[in-house]
Amino acid sequence: MDENLIIKRLVVGSLSANCYIVGNTDTREGMVIDPGGNPEVILKAITDSKFVIQTIVLTHGHSDHIAALFDIQARTRADVAIHIEDADFLEGRGSFSSMFGISYKTPGTPDRLLHEGDIIEMGSTRFTVVHTPGHTPGSICLLTGNRVFTGDTLFYRGIGTTLMPGSSHRQLIDSIQTRLMVLPDDFRIYPGHGRESTIGAERRSNPFIRNR
Ligand SMILES: [Zn+2]
Ligand SMILES: [Zn+2]
Repeated sequence: MDENLIIKRLVVGSLSANCYIVGNTDTREGMVIDPGGNPEVILKAITDSKFVIQTIVLTHGHSDHIAALFDIQARTRADVAIHIEDADFLEGRGSFSSMFGISYKTPGTPDRLLHEGDIIEMGSTRFTVVHTPGHTPGSICLLTGNRVFTGDTLFYRGIGTTLMPGSSHRQLIDSIQTRLMVLPDDFRIYPGHGRESTIGAERRSNPFIRNR
């Protein structure tokens, strides 16, 4: 357990995505995970937190997780990190794009392309990149201590949709089984939508996982 770690969840955008502001109370270094909408809400939370945002990490490239990226990056000047296989979602800069009916300013080329096993450092806190393809080819989970940010891979009693181009249900289930269900029961799950859970609770009660 990292006693210096603070996690604030904001529910943003028309698809109610979770944006997390994560910070180290010791060094005041901070990170934003999935700035999916309502940039003014995210910016206010950053200001209130007094964290200096150094990295913006995207669990994947869907618009409901990046719609506020342009504004948050412009204001914080933080590095943008996304898995290499989802980098194509970030195209151009400053023009408008739309996906899932969400219109947003497109962000530019990412500063950092992530790969399986990469470490993102925030003060004394280290986040490990776990590549969990399925919902998108470049979906990742972020692991720190006994916490895991799961994006749209694993939800409370649910899993991400695989009805989109580039999605694969088989791959998603495989990612969950081989990368997440191998974690201990007490690991806390911070999903891309909906409420928190734990690995143990999902192992027992998630209809897409149990009895397999
Ligand atoms: Zn998604
Ligand atoms: Zn989503």
